[in-house]
Amino acid sequence: MSSSRKRIGSYEPPSPPSSKVPRRDVQESDSSEDEEEDPWEVECQCGLHHDDGYTVQCDRCKTWQHTVCMGLPKGKVPGAYKCVQCDPRNLSVSKEKAKRIQRKFLEEKWEAERMELERARRLEAACQGTIIRKIIPTRSQSLTNRSSQGPKFEQLNQYSKGAYDLINSLDLTNGADSLLRDSTLRKSSQKIFVERFVEGLGTTENMKEHQLIIQVIGYVSLLHEASRQPGGGNGMFMYDGLMVGVPGAVIRDCSKFICIDTKVQGNDSTFTRRSCNSNSVLKHVIGSNGTLGLFIVSTKIISENEEVTLPFDPDWKESDSPLECAEHSKNLKLCAFEVERRRQAKERKKQMKDKENVKEKTVQKDQPSTSGIPVRVLPSPPPNPFQQSAITHHIPQLNEYLDPVPDLLKPLQQTSGADYLLEESRRNPKALRAFVSNDVEGLVTSKPVPPEKIILEMTGTVSIADEEEGPTTGTFLYKGLGTSPLQIKSNNDTRFTRKSCQPNSVLKHVIGSEKTLGVFIVSVVNIQEDTEVTLPFDMKDFNSELPLKCAEHSNNSGLCSAEQQRKEASEEKPKKGKKRR
Ligand SMILES: [Zn+2]
Ligand SMILES: [Zn+2]
Ligand SMILES: [Zn+2]
Ligand SMILES: [Zn+2]
Repeated sequence: MSSSRKRIGSYEPPSPPSSKVPRRDVQESDSSEDEEEDPWEVECQCGLHHDDGYTVQCDRCKTWQHTVCMGLPKGKVPGAYKCVQCDPRNLSVSKEKAKRIQRKFLEEKWEAERMELERARRLEAACQGTIIRKIIPTRSQSLTNRSSQGPKFEQLNQYSKGAYDLINSLDLTNGADSLLRDSTLRKSSQKIFVERFVEGLGTTENMKEHQLIIQVIGYVSLLHEASRQPGGGNGMFMYDGLMVGVPGAVIRDCSKFICIDTKVQGNDSTFTRRSCNSNSVLKHVIGSNGTLGLFIVSTKIISENEEVTLPFDPDWKESDSPLECAEHSKNLKLCAFEVERRRQAKERKKQMKDKENVKEKTVQKDQPSTSGIPVRVLPSPPPNPFQQSAITHHIPQLNEYLDPVPDLLKPLQQTSGADYLLEESRRNPKALRAFVSNDVEGLVTSKPVPPEKIILEMTGTVSIADEEEGPTTGTFLYKGLGTSPLQIKSNNDTRFTRKSCQPNSVLKHVIGSEKTLGVFIVSVVNIQEDTEVTLPFDMKDFNSELPLKCAEHSNNSGLCSAEQQRKEASEEKPKKGKKRR
């Protein structure tokens, strides 16, 4: 009788081994997640315990070995087989060689997983969470449009006080009210059964890209007010796009992320499942009376009756339970997001354990001298769930602050995750100076940039804005601190950034440790590689007597709406009178 078996592919769901195998890590496993793993015990001369897809089981001790490490041909296993422990012999493959082979296998596997994740992430980041700029009406939508000049839209959401105040502080979106009104009049999607007992959201007509599928209706609260699971699901949707493109704000300020709970007052959007290969995203408009219109918008062609899926909420990596991926519900191990989430969850657990060990040791050390020596308490994890890593080393100061700027910065609170953003943006600049025409230089992207991502830090001399002085090239106003406006005389490639009446970026900031002011050029829309980065004009430009130099309309200032505005203002304004916009 032979119990040798062959398995192909490293992701095949494990089938029960022929006999009970003692687990090697029983003491360590304390969650159900770990227990699912390794029903096959690989004990091989290479010292690694993974499954490479080709293993053979020892007839006597029932452990498994990699066939390549045992010098056996792939896929062909002998009728009778014993491991070297049970049947000591010289193998044709040395221990070192076995180790090398399996290391290489693992590295390639990890690399493939990383690439897959990177691809999925890029897809996800492409157009997630921004204000609605482009909507193509569907067939049923264009039919209702004609007869929709009737009553105003209804307020369908409920809001927490915090969410209400935040939404009311934002500018109205052009055309928002008619979009909100129309979206309640017709239906492009409804609840469907994707499996016998599994509900999902399905389309009721063929959809192109950029079409409204359904409005997400429910109870809107600030993210920190909601109790939810990282990654989303169960009728809860996190939205981090409200501040995208809003100039002069703290970047990625999670106190301005919101959550919408569709379970109680909601509509069919509540059935929308998540996927690593989603075909829609959330986008928003701000309507009158502080109405939030949050919509599921198609990102691909979706045919009638097909399931609509959204990406996971942006904090999916923080989840300690498996992601519910619609694409991979049958085999979660194939989901690159789930593989990555699992890896990070394990790492967190390990770090917690290490921390606890340190704590215990510290307590023990402190115990002998009991008289009033406080037990050292380790710092708790950073409050920002989106902080990627805690950086303890020093962030170099690249700005020079002229008085009284240091005094203005002193009372400002440090932005959580600021040092990470500063370091990351310096290590990974996404734009540089380049010629945009024969003799004109500008700032140009060196890689694609999704919305609300840092393109480049603007460094230089920071001073209080001089209202009397006209606009100077390479100097930018910043009004986002809630203090009097600052100006930055840029000393890096950002000084070549031109302005436009249709800018694709804005300035935002963070406050880092030691009161470092980090001002960043942040994308408003998807920006392709090798594209000029442009900023909006500021009040100095509008107050100027000189024509605006719009990057978009450099050859045709007559078409420039910003230049039009400046001209009108300068004609109204009596010479040498009070400046106004
Ligand atoms: Zn091996
Ligand atoms: Zn054996
Ligand atoms: Zn998946
Ligand atoms: Zn223009």
